[in-house]
Amino acid sequence: LERIAAVDAEPGVHAFLHVDQDGALSAAAAVDAKRAAGEPLGPLAGVPLALKDVITTADMPTTAGSRILEGWQPPYDATVTAKLRDAGIVILGKTNLDEFAMGSSTENSAFGPTRNPWDLNRIPGGSGGGSAASLAAFEAPLAIGTDTGGSIRQPAAVTGTVGVKPTYGGVSRYGLIACASSLDQAGPCARTVMDAALLHSVIAGHDPLDSTSIDEAVPDVVAAARQGAHGDLAGLRVGVVKELGGDGYQAGVEARFAEAVELLGKLGAEVVEVSCPNFTYALPAYYLIMPSEVSSNLARFDAMRFGLRVGDDGSRGAEEVMNITRGVGFGAEAKRRIILGTYALSSGYYDAYYGQAQKVRTLVSRDFEAAFAKVDVLVSPTTPTTAFPIGEKVDDPLAMYTNDLCTIPSNLAGNASASFPCGLADEDGLPVGLHVMAPVLGDHRLYRVGAALE
Ligand code: GLN
Repeated sequence: LERIAAVDAEPGVHAFLHVDQDGALSAAAAVDAKRAAGEPLGPLAGVPLALKDVITTADMPTTAGSRILEGWQPPYDATVTAKLRDAGIVILGKTNLDEFAMGSSTENSAFGPTRNPWDLNRIPGGSGGGSAASLAAFEAPLAIGTDTGGSIRQPAAVTGTVGVKPTYGGVSRYGLIACASSLDQAGPCARTVMDAALLHSVIAGHDPLDSTSIDEAVPDVVAAARQGAHGDLAGLRVGVVKELGGDGYQAGVEARFAEAVELLGKLGAEVVEVSCPNFTYALPAYYLIMPSEVSSNLARFDAMRFGLRVGDDGSRGAEEVMNITRGVGFGAEAKRRIILGTYALSSGYYDAYYGQAQKVRTLVSRDFEAAFAKVDVLVSPTTPTTAFPIGEKVDDPLAMYTNDLCTIPSNLAGNASASFPCGLADEDGLPVGLHVMAPVLGDHRLYRVGAALE
C-alpha cells in the first residue's frame, strides 16, 4: 500500500482506479488469524493482488474504464473474485483499462491513461495496462487480466511481465463484464512463471454459473512449471509460425525472439517452421466479430439499469434519456465499435461481413489443428514492436489494431497462449515478449516452456 501511494498518483504510473486500503488490511488480518489458529492456508494466502476493473466486486466499484458505469457498485462478486477471496488472496484494488477492454494502450480509459513503469512517457499496453503496470512497478506481485484479443499478453510483453490467456472456458466468465463473449477469457498476470501458475490454479475450474465453462479437469499448471524449471525441454516439438514476423516487426523484437527460439533448441526442444496461412486474415476477421458482439453486449447500458443517467429531468422520455446518456457515457472507441458491429450485423450486410468473418474464424482454428498435429506448441513474438509513446497511435485506430496481429488467432480458436519476457530490445532498451501458443486444454505446456526459459 505504501508503494502504491509512492508511485501510483498521476503523473505517476496510475495503474489503479480504486485502492481498497481497509478491505486489503482486513483480508490480510483474516489470513493472519487463520494462521494463528493453525488452520490450513493455500500457497497464495496473504499475497496481494491487483484486479482488472472489468471484474465485479461486491465491496468495490466496477467501472470497466467507462463513464457509463462511474459510481456503480455491483451487487455480487464474480466467480474469479470469490475464488481469490477463498484462497486468502488480498485484493488491493481495481486496475485501469481501456474502456470495456477495447484498446491496446489503456489510453481509451475514461479515467486517464496508465503509464509504463519502464518509461512513463510510453504506453503499458492494453486493455489490461493497469494490471501489467502494477506488476512492473512493484505495486503488486499478482494481478488478474482479461484477454479478448490480447489484453493480457500484449501488456505483459511491453512491461516485461508474465501473462497467460487460459483455454476459452477454462476460467469462469461469471461476473466478467462482457466485451465479446465468445472471445473473453480472464487469466493470471505475474512477475514469475510459477506465480502465474499458482494463480492460474486458484481461478481455473468449472463453474455452473457460466454456460461456456469447460467441465473437465484443469491441467496441472503448477506441476508443469516445476517440470519446466529444470530447464529440460527434451521431446518438446516447437513450431515457429512463419506468418508472424518479418515486415513491420521491430528489429530488436525479432532479435530477442530469434535468441529465445535458439535457446529452446539448446534446452532440447525440436524446432521447426510451421505455416498457418489463415493467420493473415485473423485480424480483419476479429475486428468484425469482436465489434459485432460488443454492439450487442453494450446495449444493456441503457441509462436505466446501471450507473450513469443524464438528462432525466422529467421532460424527456426513456429513449431520449438513453440516447443522451450513451452519447456522453461512452468514449470514441466504444462508439466506433458499436457502429461497426451494428453495421456488420445488419440485414443485407450480415453475410458479407459477420458471416465471412466467422468462416475465417473456422479456417484459423483449422490452421491450429493442422499445426498441433505436428508440434506441441507454436511460438512468435507477442507484439510487432515494444511499448510506443503515449499519444502516438491514439488517433489512428488501424495502427492501434496491428498490435494484436500475433495474439488474436488464439482468441478466435479458443486455445491457450501466453507471453513470457525474453529480454530487452537493443534500440530502445524496452521489454520484448515471447508468445507461446498451445492447444485447447494444453495450458500446462505454456508453463513448461515459460519456466524453462526463465
Ligand atoms: N486490442 C484488443 C482490442 O482492442 C484487445 C481486446 C482485449 O483483449 N480485451 O480489441
